[in-house]
Parts: sequence; C-alpha cells; structure tokens
Amino acid sequence: MNIPVYLDNQATTRVDRRVIDAMTPLMDEVYGNASSTQHEFGWRAEAAVEQARRRVAALIGGLPEEIVFTGGATESINIALKGAARGLRDRGRRIITAATEHRAVLDTCTRLEQEGFEVIRVPVDGHGVVDPEDVRRAMTPGTILVSIMAANNEIGTIAPLEAIGALCSEHGALFHTDATQAAGKVPLDMHAMHIDLMSFSAHKMYGPKGVGALAVRSGRPAIRLVPLFDGGGHERGIRPGTLNVPGIAGFGVASEIAAAVMAEESGRLSGLRDRLVAGVSEALEGTRVNGHPAHRLPHNANLLFPGARADAVMMAMKDIAVSSGSACSTASPEPSHVLRAIGLTREETLCSLRFGLGRFTTGEEIDYAIGRVKEAVLKIVRGPGRHTGPNAEMSRASAESVH
Ligand SMILES: *Cc1c(COP(=O)(O)O)cnc(C)c1O
Repeated sequence: MNIPVYLDNQATTRVDRRVIDAMTPLMDEVYGNASSTQHEFGWRAEAAVEQARRRVAALIGGLPEEIVFTGGATESINIALKGAARGLRDRGRRIITAATEHRAVLDTCTRLEQEGFEVIRVPVDGHGVVDPEDVRRAMTPGTILVSIMAANNEIGTIAPLEAIGALCSEHGALFHTDATQAAGKVPLDMHAMHIDLMSFSAHKMYGPKGVGALAVRSGRPAIRLVPLFDGGGHERGIRPGTLNVPGIAGFGVASEIAAAVMAEESGRLSGLRDRLVAGVSEALEGTRVNGHPAHRLPHNANLLFPGARADAVMMAMKDIAVSSGSACSTASPEPSHVLRAIGLTREETLCSLRFGLGRFTTGEEIDYAIGRVKEAVLKIVRGPGRHTGPNAEMSRASAESVH
C-alpha cells in the first residue's frame, strides 16, 4: 500500500509506466522537430505525432485530422471559446454555458462578456444536471455558441451531451464540451453526440502534464476559429508553435490504454467507490453524497459530513490525499461554486470532500481510507479532548448521529 494514499485523481493522475516508456525515446533518440520535413529526425518525430493523433481521435470517436494538440485543456478551452466567438461575432453575441463549469470555461466567458458578448449561465438541478430544456429556452437566433461540460470535476455528474448537442445543431449554434474529466473514463463519440468542439487533457488520464487536445469537427458548415497565437502555422494555424512530441506521444499511448481498459476499469473503480461510500456512511450517520446518484463518473465521490469542516478533516488525516472544493480554487477561501449551484449552504460546501479514485487505487487503500476518514470526522465533530480509542469511536458512531 502506498502511504499517503492518493485519492485526488480529479486534480491529476500518476503517469502510467507504459506512457513514460513510450515518451523517453522521444527525448533522447527521436528528438527531431516534427516540422523539420527535410530529414530523418523530423520525419520520425512527425510519424510519432501522427500516430498519437490517430490514437487520441479514436478515443473520442473523431478523425485524426480533427485533433489539434495544445498545452492542456485550459488552453484548448480558450482557443475554442474565444476563437469561435470572435469568428462568429457578426452572426450573434449570445453564448450559453452552465453555472457548474470549470473556471477555465467560466473565466473565459467572463472575458468574452467584457468584449461585448452576452453570456447566459443556465442553472443545474440538485444533482448538478443541466436540463436541455433550459438550454433550449435560452436559445435565440443570435446564439452562436454553447459550452456544457461532459462531466463535472468536483461532483462527477455526467451531462446529457447528446440531447444538448442535438438541439445546438437544430438551432445552428456551435457546441463545445469540456471533456477533461470524461475523456478516457466514459465513452464519448463526438459525432454521435453532435459535438463541434471538445477540449481535454492528458494529465487527467494517466498521461503527462502540459499537453491536451482540441477536437474540431470537420465537414459542413466549416468551423472557423480565430487563433489566439500567431506564428509558424503548426496545427493548421489554430495552435502554432513547435510540437511537444514526447508529450503528444505519451497522450497517444494514454488514450489507447484508456480505450482498451475503460469498461473493466470503470467497473472496478465504481465498485471501490461504492465500498468507500458505504463504509464511510455506515460509520458516520448523516453523511451525504453530493452529485447525481447514477449519472456520475465511476471513480468520483463527493461527500458531505455535516458539522465537520473539510479543512480540519484533511488536517486530521494527512496521509489521505483528497480535496475540498476544486483543486484550482483551494487558494481562495470562496466556497465551491459547484456545490453552491446544486443548492448546498455555504456551511455545507465547507464540510464537503472530494474523493477521486484512479487506476492505481487498491482495495487495501480504500479500506485504510475508510478507517482514517471515520477517525478524522469523529474527532472533528466531537471537538478537541474528547478523542478516544477506535473501538469506543465505532460504538459511539452508531449511537450518535453526526450533525
Ligand atoms: C483539470 C480540468 C481543466 C484544466 O485542464 P488543464 O489541462 O490542467 O489546463 C479543465 N476542465 C476540467 C473539467 C478539468 O477537470
């Protein structure tokens, strides 16, 4: 068992050994620039990039020529939303997104608002689901773009992508999805789901950090993205700059592995996740699960322990790596906007913890985590000086409910 136990796989993942092994030779042997078309070094680097492009495309039901490699999902999202909005400015100004999106989408939309676009943020229900009818009601002839995430990074809720995609294509609005948490974890098919633009990242699926993709649907009507950067014309001019060949190749291998193991892995991880939730809830009466009970990522659990502040719980179990709110916003004291959007009070958001399981999580680690969470929450709820041995804790836990 690895201590501390890593249960923060929605923040990032350990790189799979097979990915590292595929990347290494692309740094010390095949180190060419993929744009050097006049010699062997360049040809081999380019071949590695094109192989990765096929593998990444296959993971999301896309075509290789639809993949643009970027420096990660934040960058893909910026290129997609700003590029599409600025290109369609003459056709309309309305952009529809959801209250529970990642900051990469929300902050980009705020920037576009400052440029004169009108941003509608549709609400979600108590489970974090966007109702496609709310998107339909927000549609106007001037709606150019809709951005709804595939799966939420805090509560794991999976969106009805196909229904939203269908109504976007019906209304002639481009549909972008932030699939950073969903790619490699649940099946995605950009064409069947009517997705025009899809952003995702290697480091959330056992690949390296700093590399991602933007899938841009081919075919009619053609999608024009006004690029954010100029220079060199790489990646069809959408994302110029020398390609990160080792990172891209690693992303390709990570995609291929994810596609091959997805069904088996999601079964195993949802089993472990259910064991964690059952084990913790049994000992800590009053525990609540945030997010959708069924339409959720297999490896995510977001739990609310009434009366136990998440920061104190984490301090009391330093050998369990989990997260409160989203990792990206822990520097700010603001309660999670996602948990607020599903109707939690400010106090409840501060008492919620995110558990993110992953490929390397074992049953032994989950059982250890259950024990540590139990101890930590009971210690916080009872206050200082009232901490007793584990047996006393167990019997008291069943006798008194935690509020
Ligand atoms: C992690 C994450 C991002 C940002 O991805 P980077 O590759 O780290 O820029 C965007 N959206 C969601 C849903 C995420 O989980």
